[in-house]
Amino acid sequence: MADKKPEILVIGGGIGGLTLALSLHKRGIPCQVFEAATEFKPLGVGINMMPHAIRVLTSLGLQPTLENYGVAAKEFTFFNRHGQFILAEPCGLHAGYEYPHFSIHRGDLHKVLYDAVIERLGPEAVHLGHRCTGVDQNSDSVTARFEGTGPKTGSIAIAVDGFHSAVRRQYYPNEGAPHFGGINMWRGVTRRKPFLSAASVTRIGTVARGKMTIYPIRNFKDGTQLINWSTEQPRDDHKLNDWATPGRIEDFIEPFRNWDFDWLDVPALIAGAEFILEYPMVDRDPVNKWTHGRVTLLGDAAHPMYPRGGNGGAQAILDAEVISRLLDEMDDPAAALHAYEDERLDVTNNIVLTNRAQPPDVIIEKVEELTGGEPFEKLEDIIDPAQLVAISESYKNTAGYSLEKVGGAR
Ligand SMILES: Cc1cc2nc3c(=O)[nH]c(=O)nc-3n(C[C@H](O)[C@H](O)[C@H](O)COP(=O)(O)OP(=O)(O)OC[C@H]3O[C@@H](n4cnc5c(N)ncnc54)[C@H](O)[C@@H]3O)c2cc1C
Repeated sequence: MADKKPEILVIGGGIGGLTLALSLHKRGIPCQVFEAATEFKPLGVGINMMPHAIRVLTSLGLQPTLENYGVAAKEFTFFNRHGQFILAEPCGLHAGYEYPHFSIHRGDLHKVLYDAVIERLGPEAVHLGHRCTGVDQNSDSVTARFEGTGPKTGSIAIAVDGFHSAVRRQYYPNEGAPHFGGINMWRGVTRRKPFLSAASVTRIGTVARGKMTIYPIRNFKDGTQLINWSTEQPRDDHKLNDWATPGRIEDFIEPFRNWDFDWLDVPALIAGAEFILEYPMVDRDPVNKWTHGRVTLLGDAAHPMYPRGGNGGAQAILDAEVISRLLDEMDDPAAALHAYEDERLDVTNNIVLTNRAQPPDVIIEKVEELTGGEPFEKLEDIIDPAQLVAISESYKNTAGYSLEKVGGAR
């Protein structure tokens, strides 16, 4: 192996860390992954992986496997709280992208990545039960410390240890509690027959008066699907953000009691949930430095953002691609970490702030505002549909998954 290919410490084996390991491996750069969890467990519920992320996962040869697990989404659909149709926009291949948009169980995505890492890098490259407590460095190397086990030394360390990153805390010890947006989310999965196109990522209503996001994430042989649903509601306080905090129906059901639309019975969907999780809408104020000598931050550790618009995981995947390319191209790994920060920091900080100010469901908010929350007779009398499309395009542009940015089918 050439000298410029450093032995890299990847701290965290989530979506970003595993993608990073695969990207480095593809370029012949050795790395070791250190993950706090003692066993691999599929956590969370559904996640949307849009064409910008699937482009990277396809370059890693994972698209056929993802196809077996997830649902290739066909459209984004928007409805008001009376179940009235506002807008449908094609997505993924159906919108002309070269790559699909997959809606997938977060656990399935993690498994696809984890299995690929074990197969390609070997089981010895992943160290479970390694909770990093901090890093030390000199001019040539970095040493990561771990709870209850010995330290490990490499030439650089990339901290992909998620929202509650220990390495970020080392560099930003006074950051304090996460920034809470005054919104709480409840999420669940329900197995049932398909609705709408059987591949629609559907948003209904507004946060103030009840909002749902609903999409299928798994197909079963008997024709049923696993449907992921989530709601956002205003709240004054919240619990710690964790992938596995259980939620209770009675805490959020009120706005949805009458949402039995002719195209979907929402109360029945919620009542049929296999389990319900609760998660607060939290992020952190952007920072202006991720790279500290031979250590940098990546994914949620670098730019924790509101989980809206299906983008946190995607941005971690894009980070992984960029940093791997730069480490391959540049002789000095510490310089590559700086170049990575230069390329990615402003872009992702902008998404963090956009997600606070203008989430994709701003389309429904706009119609709600114009109708005073009442049913409409004809949408065209309220707003020009072209204006709705323009609002949606503006979000996609900032989030980096507009057709122009990702590229169309060749
Ligand atoms: C409710 C919700 C819905 C979301 N929906 C979407 C979506 O539709 N599309 C999308 O792209 N993104 C979505 N996201 C965001 C996405 O899940 C995250 O942005 C993504 O998981 C970030 O990847 P990561 O690798 O940085 O962090 P994680 O995936 O959280 O992985 C961090 C890993 O580090 C490990 N770890 C933690 N501390 C330590 C330590 N001290 N030492 C070693 N290991 C450690 C953790 O166990 C974990 O395995 C959603 C998030 C939430 C909360």
